[in-house]
Amino acid sequence: MPSAQSEQLYLLKERLATISDLKSAASVLLWDQQTYMPAGGVAGRSEQQATLNRLSHEMLASGEIARLLDAAGEPEPETEAAAIVRVARRKHERATRLPSRLVADISRATALAEPTWEQARATSDFAMFAPHLEKIVALQREAAEHLGYEDHPYDALLDRYEPGARKTRIETMFDELKHGTADMVHAVSAHAEDGREAPLFGPFDEGKQEAFGRMISSSFGYDWGRGRQDRAVHPFCINFGGPGDVRITIRFDPGWLSPALFATMHETGHALYEQGIDSAYSRTPLAGGASLGVHESQSRLWENVVGRSITFWSYFYPRLQKAFPEALGSTDLEAFYQAVNAARPSEIRVEADELTYNLHVALRFELEVALIEGSLSVADLPDAWNAKMEEHLAITPRTDADGVLQDSHWAIGYFGYFPTYTIGNILSVQLFNAALEAHPEIPEQMERGGFGSLLGWMRENVHRHGKKYEPEDLIERATGRLPEAGPYLRYLNEKFSDLYGQS
Ligand code: ZN
Repeated sequence: MPSAQSEQLYLLKERLATISDLKSAASVLLWDQQTYMPAGGVAGRSEQQATLNRLSHEMLASGEIARLLDAAGEPEPETEAAAIVRVARRKHERATRLPSRLVADISRATALAEPTWEQARATSDFAMFAPHLEKIVALQREAAEHLGYEDHPYDALLDRYEPGARKTRIETMFDELKHGTADMVHAVSAHAEDGREAPLFGPFDEGKQEAFGRMISSSFGYDWGRGRQDRAVHPFCINFGGPGDVRITIRFDPGWLSPALFATMHETGHALYEQGIDSAYSRTPLAGGASLGVHESQSRLWENVVGRSITFWSYFYPRLQKAFPEALGSTDLEAFYQAVNAARPSEIRVEADELTYNLHVALRFELEVALIEGSLSVADLPDAWNAKMEEHLAITPRTDADGVLQDSHWAIGYFGYFPTYTIGNILSVQLFNAALEAHPEIPEQMERGGFGSLLGWMRENVHRHGKKYEPEDLIERATGRLPEAGPYLRYLNEKFSDLYGQS
């Protein structure tokens, strides 16, 4: 006989499913906007999006959800019901803590800031963007006060993307990475002009690039019956409330092989996670990755740990050569492997190699913490940026466009987002090592172009759980240890000392 409590839980799940449907409908509209919508659709589409977002926000923040959450009480620990209540409670609290006036102010400020940021970047004019950023920083600080925190306002912002993460622990993580890679970064800098990435440039027919990318996605285990690939300006992965429809988008450059090739592996990694989530969680708050960091661990795993390994290319490189005999016919496997792992301090984060990437993230983290706590003013940001570039990477950007203006995150209010990239990198290796320990046959499989054991382990230990466990809990269950930078540091140092002939 159903108890009063389970009836309340049933009603709660029903309301949450409706909210999920509204969000999924908004996602379909977003996917369409980024792929096929004609330019004339922009105005109408933004109204439709605003309406759906308002409806789902109102439902989530409603007194009815508050009442149902109260009535659901504390379900038995470790159960799906307990996880649903835990995640739904957090979403409800977050939705109610921000006054609607502040939500509207933030959305208005970022809507104005983003096009201005684009223009400012195009003309390398930080002064044009500065007043917008000042407004956004002030609003983010206000949001942090409403969201609440124990030690530092940044924690409140970080927690939106990485539940349970703390500024102090992120600082420790970056310190460990900075010190642990300093010698290697210095060593590769001496080879910055050796031109080893040259094989990646040349005529690479877009259709052939696409066919090769699709073949790789299929080999990884992407299920085309529950997904599709289209073209968009910015590559992304999107899903609609469950594992039955998980799409990716890619952009191709006919003169440069890397962007589409590695974006395909990256987005396929995100998609494999979403396709692997237990379908019983569809339309519940447990659908989706445990956090942005855990999600990024899956994209980086397939893009870097797998996709930039000699094991992977020993099977796939002959096939790539066959697809592009003119561009790659005279480049051997070792030279190609060196090319896809070419490392050097550079200005642009999204083009950075595995070794220096986290330094780009570290400096953004340090600057956004300083902006949020008020120890750095927006007016001083460009100088502070250049000083940090010099400190971490020993280079100074030629222009603000290639420096402080290069990322959209701050313009759209994403303070606290950057560290999730490095959390993802760290976790990618920690998880890969755990899979390898359980399945020592993974490298031999990869040499034959197979990934069944690796994907199977990720499915079993990470993917299927969705948001059932908190990120750190999930990682500890999967690997036996809390998230730690050590394995990732060893991976980087071994790989790059081998590539750059250091001992
Ligand atoms: Zn990603």
